[in-house]
Amino acid sequence: MMDLQRVNEYMSRVEESEKKVLPHAGRLKTGLDLGTAYIVLVVLDEENQPVACEKKAADVLRDGVVVDYSGACRIVKELKDRLEERLGEELTDCAIAMPAGTESSVQTHRYVAESAGFEVTNVLDEPTAANAVYQISDGVVVDIGGGTTGLAMFHDGKVVQIEDEPTGGTHLSLVLAGNYHISFAEAETIKQDYARHKEILPVVRPVIEKMATIVKKYIDPSRTDTIYLCGGTTCLTGIETVFEKVTGIRTVKPDNPFLVTPAGIAMNC
Ligand code: ATP
Repeated sequence: MMDLQRVNEYMSRVEESEKKVLPHAGRLKTGLDLGTAYIVLVVLDEENQPVACEKKAADVLRDGVVVDYSGACRIVKELKDRLEERLGEELTDCAIAMPAGTESSVQTHRYVAESAGFEVTNVLDEPTAANAVYQISDGVVVDIGGGTTGLAMFHDGKVVQIEDEPTGGTHLSLVLAGNYHISFAEAETIKQDYARHKEILPVVRPVIEKMATIVKKYIDPSRTDTIYLCGGTTCLTGIETVFEKVTGIRTVKPDNPFLVTPAGIAMNC
């Protein structure tokens, strides 16, 4: 079972580290999450305590694959420079993570990190990285980002299966843009406004049902009693209820599931 209170407290410190550098000791560990919607760098200390974090909305990947290489390099360097300025020290090592099924692109992700001056010490898959934070031994971790829905099944603390399919938050924004006759950027703003979640949930429900159907297809309900959500898209209020309805399986998420994967990547640096 995930200790939700521990995860909520930990993730609120990760969030706090976006605004100020937190006290730290020993070697700094960095996690680089090159995402479809955001590029995120999370810095932890030797004891995995949050130190600093920077993120930037980016449009340089599609379905987990880098489509604008120089753009990706530029943003990672910009975020690394910002962190080093805030920290007053150089960041040398980083870990990276890939959506399952995009392993053939790992070399490109590595080059992006290296172009910013990082040495890549570890490469993970995204939901496994998230479980470094959740620490569940049985259940399913579902990571819904901008472009994809990824899942990792755990039994007795080991990953037994990972999957990833191309439906994510971008698809929710496209549906909102069409429904309200607004631009994609405006749809993103509405979607990230918690005050409007109740209003938009019925509009995007079919896409969330599709995400839940993807997850349902892969899981064996006789061996899985809980789905653990993470990733920016799971910030959407009420998403867990739709998942429970479609899958028939208890679904939980922390107060802020946005930075779980990048923090888990950093833990593995
Ligand atoms: P991927 O893992 O698919 O490559 P990513 O790593 O960029 O993508 P995340 O950073 O986990 O994905 O999540 C980004 C998505 O989360 C975007 O679609 C964004 O609109 C959405 N998102 C962020 N905050 C919120 C929020 N408060 N409410 C709803 N959606 C949100």
